[in-house]
Amino acid sequence: MPYIGRFAPSPTGHLHAGSLITALATWLDARHHNGRWLLRIEDIDPPREVAGASESIINSLRAHQLEWDDTIQFQSQRSPFYEQALQQLREQNKLYACCCTRKQLRAIAETRHTHSYPGTCRDLDLPEGDSALRLRIDSGQVSIVDALAGPIEENVQHTVGDFIIRRRGPLFAYQLAVVVDDALQGITHVVRGADLLDNTARQVILQRALGYPTPAYLHIPLAVQADGRKLSKQTGAKPINNSDALCNLQFAWKFLGQQQPDADLGSVAEFLQFAVPNWRRDRIPATLQPISVAESSSNS
Ligand code: GLU
Repeated sequence: MPYIGRFAPSPTGHLHAGSLITALATWLDARHHNGRWLLRIEDIDPPREVAGASESIINSLRAHQLEWDDTIQFQSQRSPFYEQALQQLREQNKLYACCCTRKQLRAIAETRHTHSYPGTCRDLDLPEGDSALRLRIDSGQVSIVDALAGPIEENVQHTVGDFIIRRRGPLFAYQLAVVVDDALQGITHVVRGADLLDNTARQVILQRALGYPTPAYLHIPLAVQADGRKLSKQTGAKPINNSDALCNLQFAWKFLGQQQPDADLGSVAEFLQFAVPNWRRDRIPATLQPISVAESSSNS
């Protein structure tokens, strides 16, 4: 079976220990399966973007010799494809404009004791303008088998309801961009952090609506700080130090539960040469619980 994987960072900060773990896992899984590995920069959220972060991530991947195939794709340059997908859904009457404010949604959630969207604007036929657009879900039932988490059953109508695929602004929503790009790039295997597991059912619904195949999924445990917060620029995660590439990779390898080499490996190239054939999915800690990393040990 052909294998096309990808690493799809959002340029919201430098690469840190947590994002390097994901990068390494996706790269190894692809290379172990003789697959291709694509790099996609998910820069569709200008308010969250940090200047220089894309270049910094790309430089760090190079320094760690995680080489990609093809040219790097930037989501900011792919609007026509997202527009086309919206148009396809519009023609099938699967889109509707929503003018609910956050405040209104909060109030509704409090009375209904659920965050799923109750469909307030579903049949109002509001003009689109710059409003948010929601996907009209007919059947929300999804069955996924995650390579680590196992079978997952979810009814998206119950958990989230008709979800937003274009945000007010208008801005393309992550769900739309990721589904369109995974399909157009022919991604067969998605490997990513477990924080995105609960987005997967929505993505499967959208794939179905657009007539796309569903890739195989593997969600790896999320690396968190000792206090349980996700590693990110906001929580003070240190950028990865490119001159400690070998040490950083060994740390990520260990986090991923992989077997330590018998002898010392002296260079990044040697380490990666050892890692590709020795990568074992069944050694990844099989837990949906986040795992804490002592930040310092990734850079020491
Ligand atoms: N861009 C997302 C992130 O950096 C990852 C998207 C994905 O892998 O589906 O969290």
